[in-house]
Amino acid sequence: PSLEFEQTRRLVDRGVQESWWFLADQLQQLRKKVESYPDLTSHIDQILEEGSDHTRVLQFDMSRLSQLDGLGTWREQEALDLSSVVQKRLHTLQNPQDCEKARKLVCNLNKGCGYGCQIHHVVYCLIVAYGSKRTLVLKSRGWRYNKAGWEDVFQPLSDTCTDPSGYSHSHWPGSNETQVLDLPIIDTLSQRPPYLPLAIPRDISERLMRLHGDPAAWWVGQFLKYLLKLQPKTQEMLDNMSESLGFQRPIVGIHVRRTDKVGTEAAYHSINEYMAHVENYYTKLQLNNPTLTKRVYLASDDPTVITEAQKKFPEYTFIGDSNIAKTASVATRYTDASLKGIIADVHFLSLTDYLVCTFSSQVCRIAYEIMQGYHPDASSYFRSLDDIYYYGGQNAHNQKARFPHVPRRPDELALNPRDVVGIAGNHWDGYSKGVNRRTNQNGLYPSYKMEEVVDIADFPSYTHTDK
Ligand code: GDP
Repeated sequence: PSLEFEQTRRLVDRGVQESWWFLADQLQQLRKKVESYPDLTSHIDQILEEGSDHTRVLQFDMSRLSQLDGLGTWREQEALDLSSVVQKRLHTLQNPQDCEKARKLVCNLNKGCGYGCQIHHVVYCLIVAYGSKRTLVLKSRGWRYNKAGWEDVFQPLSDTCTDPSGYSHSHWPGSNETQVLDLPIIDTLSQRPPYLPLAIPRDISERLMRLHGDPAAWWVGQFLKYLLKLQPKTQEMLDNMSESLGFQRPIVGIHVRRTDKVGTEAAYHSINEYMAHVENYYTKLQLNNPTLTKRVYLASDDPTVITEAQKKFPEYTFIGDSNIAKTASVATRYTDASLKGIIADVHFLSLTDYLVCTFSSQVCRIAYEIMQGYHPDASSYFRSLDDIYYYGGQNAHNQKARFPHVPRRPDELALNPRDVVGIAGNHWDGYSKGVNRRTNQNGLYPSYKMEEVVDIADFPSYTHTDK
């Protein structure tokens, strides 16, 4: 298929979703206004129910359309090919012939934050290594989650080169000739290179944009695929857990982030909010398979959530471990047991078919990124209760207006075709919030009139390793 065909197909997909979000939200608002008229509220409830059924059938057919005429097979092959190009490049970069002479980038794992945040830190380091053609050397002794370091659970980043020494040293950005550069955390990086997330490399951009609905998340997922190769004992732990938990697809993953996050960086969301989306997902699956078992993998840093969910939703099979959640609480977080728990939760969440979570949490964003490596295009296999997908410290995320927009309410943006809007968030009700870069106006704008602007950056050439 052409790039334009695939992009248009995905626009229709998103348009259907956004239209229904808009209508459902408007109907809910109307329902509140007529609360004292039971015949009106029950009529609205009926529209909501039938309307979501219409939408599910439309979505079912659109997903069939995405597979027909060999498109499904093409997509699978293309995803494999693209991934192997990237993995081979990373392998070559990380295994220089002569480590003593190799140009290196040194990165310290121990950023003062949680596991998800630290893994994202390492991903950023490897992206900068790729972008500056330097071999990444990871320092991980005394890791707050495991004193023995990275290699105790994951394989080393290189078979030939893990020594940070060299004949010349400097802090980032140094010069081209400096052999060893120390990279600070992304938050304090000066002279930011253009290839930081959400950028993707120009040389694979066209193929990637044709293949995938969220090229930036796919790209980050490829770095996670390279980084998170398990040591045999970690693999064994996950295999054993998979068996004892009875992990089996189809399955939906829920991540409920509570404890220290609530009220500081994110709002509280009840289990019912998550389950409403799970229910919608399974109703869609049941169009085809009415008798399937409704499984949910539930991860949380609050051990009480799984019991509450089981009690409230007895028609579901919940899989998860409240003992893991106990070690994930703030008091016992940075321990070896906690590390095993979070590795397991991220692993199983990424293996689910659909994620319901808050993208304000790095735990769920990592699961989403890894998930992109397991499917040709899993860019729509999630529902976030708060943020859209982002990468901490990212460059601007922009969208572009495809149609003019005349504000219908005072807080709405006026848009000309091709106006670029910096998106702050999607309200999942038909509207997004952001700033029109032409007029500097801040406000709401209709999501359905927009398309993504993919940030394409020049990375160094790796064509010599592609053969
Ligand atoms: P964020 O704070 O949610 O953005 O994510 P971080 O990963 O940076 O920090 C949260 C930390 O809390 C994680 O790394 C875990 O140690 C712990 N945690 C949060 N949610 C879970 C969960 O669902 N399961 C487990 N095992 N640990 C969690």
